[in-house]
Amino acid sequence: MLMVRNFVVTAMLLAVFGCSPQDASQPEAGPGHGQAEPAENAARRPEAGSAGTDDALFGAFAEAWIEQLLEREPEWAIYQGRYEWADRVTIPDVATRAGRHEFLHQSMEQLRQFEPDRLSPARRAEYRLLENRMESMLWYQNRFRNWQWMQSSYNVAGPISLLLNTDFAPEDERLRLVSARLRAVPDYYAAARASIDRPTLEHLDLAVTRSRGALGVLDDDLLERARAAALSAEEVEQFGQRLGLARAAIEDWVAWLEDQRQALQAGDNARPFRIGETLFEEKFALDVQAGLDAGELYQRALQEKTRLHAEMDEIAVEIWARHFPDRVMPEQPLERIGQLIDRLSERHVTVEEFLPEIRRQIPALAEFVREHDLLDQDPDKPLVVRATPEYLRGAGNIASVSAPGPFNPGAETFYNVTPLESFGPDMAASYLREYNHWILQILNIHEAIPGHYTQLLHANRSPSLVKSLFGNGAMIEGWAVYAERMMLEQGWGDHEPELWLMHGKWLLRVVTNAILDYSVHVLGMEREEGIRLMLREAFQEQSEAEQKWRRVTLSQVQLSTYFSGFAEIYDFRERRKAALGDAFSLRDFHNQFLGYGSAPVAVIIELMEDS
Ligand code: ZN
Repeated sequence: MLMVRNFVVTAMLLAVFGCSPQDASQPEAGPGHGQAEPAENAARRPEAGSAGTDDALFGAFAEAWIEQLLEREPEWAIYQGRYEWADRVTIPDVATRAGRHEFLHQSMEQLRQFEPDRLSPARRAEYRLLENRMESMLWYQNRFRNWQWMQSSYNVAGPISLLLNTDFAPEDERLRLVSARLRAVPDYYAAARASIDRPTLEHLDLAVTRSRGALGVLDDDLLERARAAALSAEEVEQFGQRLGLARAAIEDWVAWLEDQRQALQAGDNARPFRIGETLFEEKFALDVQAGLDAGELYQRALQEKTRLHAEMDEIAVEIWARHFPDRVMPEQPLERIGQLIDRLSERHVTVEEFLPEIRRQIPALAEFVREHDLLDQDPDKPLVVRATPEYLRGAGNIASVSAPGPFNPGAETFYNVTPLESFGPDMAASYLREYNHWILQILNIHEAIPGHYTQLLHANRSPSLVKSLFGNGAMIEGWAVYAERMMLEQGWGDHEPELWLMHGKWLLRVVTNAILDYSVHVLGMEREEGIRLMLREAFQEQSEAEQKWRRVTLSQVQLSTYFSGFAEIYDFRERRKAALGDAFSLRDFHNQFLGYGSAPVAVIIELMEDS
C-alpha cells in the first residue's frame, strides 16, 4: 500500500508511489562521465537587498541546479519526464561516484551562500528541501554505500520500459533511444559487479527476481517492435545485435549473483540486513524529516497501538452478536477482535474479480469526493488500472501507483495491481481474505482517490518544481493514510461499524509497520517474534505478515514513514479546525495542504500558518 516512490529517496527512480520496491529507490544514477561540472554561473552571492532580490537569485539557482542534476542523472530525468539525455546510461563505476561527490560538494557550497532567513517562507522551504536532497545524496553514496551491497538497485529495465511505454516522441525516435541504452548494458553490469562488496542475501535474491523480470522486457517482442517501426534495415540489425548482447549481459549477471549466493552461504559471510541504531537514526532524519527522531516515533507507535486496541474492542463488543449469534464472546479483547476480523474477512471477491472490482470502485470514489466537496479533482487525467509490469513485481507489494513526473503531466498515471493468479492458490486465498470486501475499499482510497493519485495530481500542479521533484515520503504516505480515515469520517460506507473495525485493523498495520521497522533494524527483533506481532496484535493474515517481513529485510525507515506522516497531518487538521471554528472548510484545507506539493508536513504547516 505505498506509492512506488522511488523518486523520493535518492537518485530517485520513478514516481511510483505507494506500495513499492523501496530498495529500487537507490539506483546508481549519474552522468556516466565522471567529470564534475561546476555550477559557477548558477549561484551568485546575493547582494544586500530586498527579500525579493534574494528570492529571485535563489529561484534562479534552484532552477539551474535542477537542470544540472537532470543532465547528470539521466535515469532520474527519464522518470521525471525529461528525455533530452535518455540515450545516456549512467555507468555505476568509481568515476561516476567521484564526479557526483564533487558536484554535490560544490552544490552545497553554492547553496550556503544564500541565507535562509532572508528568503520568503516558500523559498525557505525550498532551500531546506534542496539542502536535504544534497545531504541525502552524499550520505547515501559515502556513508550508507548501498551501491556496494544492494544488488537489487542495479536494473536497466525501468528506464527502458518507460521509454517504450510513454508516448513522448514518435515510436522510431524512442526505439533509437532504447537502442542507445541497450548498447551500454554490458558495461553497466561489468561496473555493477566491480562495485559489489559483501552483499546481503536478501537483496541478492531480489536482484535475481528483478533481473529475470528485466529479461521479460528485453524479449523477442521488443525486436519485433523495432522491425515494425520506421527504422532503417541497418538500425534494425544494430538493434538486434545490441539486444542480444544486453540479454547475455543480464544472464551473466544473474549467473554471477547465483554463484555469489553459494559462496556467501558456504562461507556464512553475507552482510546482515539490519542496519543498526546509528545508521537507522541518520537515515530516518534524512528520509523522513520529521519533528522527532526514530526512537521517539517508536514510543508513539507503541502508545497508538494500545489506543487502537481499546477502540476496536468497543466496536467488537457492539457488533459481536450480529456476526456470532450462537457463540459466547471471549473474555480477552484481542481474542474477540481477532475472531470478528476473521469472520468479516470471509467476505471478499474471487481471484478473477480482484482487478475488475478495483476498476469498478475508482469512479464511485471520485463521485463521492465530488458530491461531498472534499477537494479538487481533475477529470481530464484518468487513472489507468493495469496488471503490475513484471519488472516492478517481486518486492511484496500488491498495489502501487506510478505516475509521470512534473515535466510530463500529460502522461498516463497507472494503478498497478499484481494479479493474484501469479501467486499460488494458497497465497492468493490468503490475499483475498486480507483484501476483503472492506479492506479493498480502503486500499483504493489509499492508492487512488483521494489518496496517492489525487495527491500527485495536486503536486504536479504545484508551481514549485523543487517540491514536486523532491517529494517527502512521510507527507506522501501520511496523506494516503489520512485520506482513508477522512473518507470514513465523511460517511464513505455509511458509518458501518464493520468498516470502522477493518479500518482500525488497517491503521494498526501502519502503526505496526513503524514498530516492526525500528524493532528489527535497531532492537534486533527476530523473524518469529515479528510474525507473531503482526498475526496476534495486528490481526494480519499469514501471507501479509510474511511479505511484510520480507519488506523489512529489504528496506529501512520506509515502513516508519506512514505513521509519522499520518500523525502529523491529522493533528494539524484538528488544530486548524479548532483555531478557525466555523470558518474552517475541509475542501479549502485539503486544496491548500496539497497545493504546496510533496513537501515535508512540518514545512507545509509552517507555510499554511504563515499565509
Ligand atoms: Zn501508500
